[in-house]
Amino acid sequence: MLQNIRVVLVNTSHPGNIGGAARAMKNMGLSRLVLVDPLTFPHHEADARASGANDVLAGAKVVATLEEALVGCTLVVGTSARDRRIPWPLLDPRECGAKVIEQAGEGAEIALVFGREHSGLTNEELQRCHYHVHIPSNPEFSSLNLGAAVQVLAYEVRMAWLALQGQPTKQAKVEVASARSAELATMDEMERFYGHLEQALVDIGFLDPDKPKHLMSRLRRLYGRSEVNRSEISILRGILTETQKAARGEVHKRKDQ
Ligand code: SAH
Repeated sequence: MLQNIRVVLVNTSHPGNIGGAARAMKNMGLSRLVLVDPLTFPHHEADARASGANDVLAGAKVVATLEEALVGCTLVVGTSARDRRIPWPLLDPRECGAKVIEQAGEGAEIALVFGREHSGLTNEELQRCHYHVHIPSNPEFSSLNLGAAVQVLAYEVRMAWLALQGQPTKQAKVEVASARSAELATMDEMERFYGHLEQALVDIGFLDPDKPKHLMSRLRRLYGRSEVNRSEISILRGILTETQKAARGEVHKRKDQ
């Protein structure tokens, strides 16, 4: 699906920005780069800035006109650093990611078009686009570096794509070995904990068994909200055991004493 998406850079002057865009694309899983009449390409600065994305650069298609770059596309999104005051259908970057993925999923060919470093896209070029996207930057300093603008849009495309695949957008750091301890405590484990807690509170004189009020039900409500897992329950039980020992006057010796 991501291969249906091409990034089109129009008349780029700095080869470094082409490399930066290639890197941003590859980081987000995009691979099709189209360069419309670049000033200098290929160039060692493009290679240097691409870091490991030289394959994207090597596969870049160089064409003479925007028209050629857009052949076959049914969705073209143009980017603009400023409000050009041409009334045009607008998307924010997030909506752009969603629309691109929705249409790519249906097999559409899609282009994200980026302009010149100094002057952006012309009005004529912008009018070849179905939608315009403006990254909502600081109005007093609205223009992003070309590679950075590619990064923002490519990131939103990736987030929308991951969501569609049902793939996680957060890295699960739970190690296999500790996965079990991260499982939620079961009802019976919680009941044993509440029994232990109640006893410890009696032992330290915080809970009067003759006038329990609603203390235990309040504490159940508190822990019930907390999605306590197995390793946390064993920490809590350990604290209770030590608290009870301290209440009995058993002085706990720290290992370093
Ligand atoms: N002076 C130009 C700046 C162009 S920046 C101008 O005012 O238009 C080069 C390219 O980066 C833009 O053509 C656009 O493709 C992209 N870009 C930079 N800032 C952007 C922003 N805030 N929103 C969307 N695209 C942006």
